[in-house]
Amino acid sequence: MELKICHIYPDLLNLYGDRGNIAVLAQRCRARGIDVSVHPLPLGERGDFSAYDLFFIGGGQDADQALLLDEIQQWRGGEIRAAIEDGKALLAICGGYQLLGHSYRTWDGKEMDCIGALDFYSVGDKTRMIGDYMFQWDEPSGGVKVVGFENHSAKTFLGSGVRPFGNVLAGYGNNGEDGTEGVRYHNVFGTYSHGPLLPKNPILADWLIRLALERKYGSAELAPLNDVLEERAHRYMVERLTKREA
Ligand code: GLN
Repeated sequence: MELKICHIYPDLLNLYGDRGNIAVLAQRCRARGIDVSVHPLPLGERGDFSAYDLFFIGGGQDADQALLLDEIQQWRGGEIRAAIEDGKALLAICGGYQLLGHSYRTWDGKEMDCIGALDFYSVGDKTRMIGDYMFQWDEPSGGVKVVGFENHSAKTFLGSGVRPFGNVLAGYGNNGEDGTEGVRYHNVFGTYSHGPLLPKNPILADWLIRLALERKYGSAELAPLNDVLEERAHRYMVERLTKREA
């Protein structure tokens, strides 16, 4: 089996080590004998979107998002929309997540038309939402707790065409108001969780790999890996955040 991972805008959207998520995806494939390759697509570079199986877009500051806006509106947005509708797996973080929606108005009033692939919009606020946080993801049986770190000024509000990734247990999530975090649509996961999201949440990494392989090959069985350290890191953060909220 083979998996081709595309890293969209690694040059502009990569805050707090977001690219570490790609390293985790690749390593968990290699450990199972799955051939994996990573294809960076920086600003201005064209790629054959139909050839990739799994996409990643990281977070970025408002200024970085503004730099790529022309390009994403002119052509790359169309390719991303087509890949999403084609059932490709995609993980989008913070600034990259915001770009998938209809629009983003920054805290200082700049309007960005985004690609409208998913039904939501974002509005900047003067107060940033920062810190370790946790949400409950109901999709896998048992209601898995996902732990992460958020740092955003934008508040994101979901429309009826999408569903939340999870419910906030600690921290802010999409907007600090309605208790939702992130977005789910087809095989897309959008989240405010920056940096080392997948190392601390290996079940999510495998979920993405499985979705991508199932779409490509019809079915996929992933052999279990030794996740003692990952599970310890996950448990440590769950306990810390549960205590913080108590
Ligand atoms: N510029 C966006 C915001 O502040 C995203 C920031 C980020 O990716 N950390 O909401």
